[in-house]
Amino acid sequence: LLQSTLSRLKEKVRTIPDFPEKGVLYRDITPLIGDGQFFRLVMTIFLERYQRRKIDKIAAIDARGFIFAGALAHILGIGLIPIRKKGKLPFQTFESEYASEYGVNTLTIHRDAVERGEQVLILDDVLATGGTAEAAAKLVERCGGTLVELGFLIELRELKGKERLRRYPIYSILQFP
Ligand code: AMP
Repeated sequence: LLQSTLSRLKEKVRTIPDFPEKGVLYRDITPLIGDGQFFRLVMTIFLERYQRRKIDKIAAIDARGFIFAGALAHILGIGLIPIRKKGKLPFQTFESEYASEYGVNTLTIHRDAVERGEQVLILDDVLATGGTAEAAAKLVERCGGTLVELGFLIELRELKGKERLRRYPIYSILQFP
């Protein structure tokens, strides 16, 4: 990938200080996904990385992970698993509590979402402290799945999510700062 292409992609991410709370530098992806050429570029990069891997399911983290995971699952013809905040999934679930960059939350997965031994790719928009992604990975493993990788559009390096997730393969298209 050309450095200039990545720089142009990076410029489409808007940075908002003190959102949703003081001290957080929020990385807003709406300008990027709002531009069809840039959104397609992101999906082409993910596709290039994952099209030759053995992947049985793609798990998407609530809510912005759905955007990329949905698009990739569609292109690859692979089933999509929603990992959702507590109270949203209607069937029997497993739960995992976690702390993210801003606040404590619980993620859930349907108990029958993954079959034992299936290879699962997890996608989300931003890797910050890694708390969210770690909870998602545990849920997939709880169902009997094996993690192929955790893929992100953006990694916020200063928050050291990669260290927290060192048990798993991690990939990100863009790194900040
Ligand atoms: P964490 O659990 O700390 O890695 O937080 C990751 C989750 O929170 C992801 O689902 C992100 O969408 C969101 N998030 C955390 N920090 C930021 C940030 N600075 N900018 C944008 N999204 C963030």
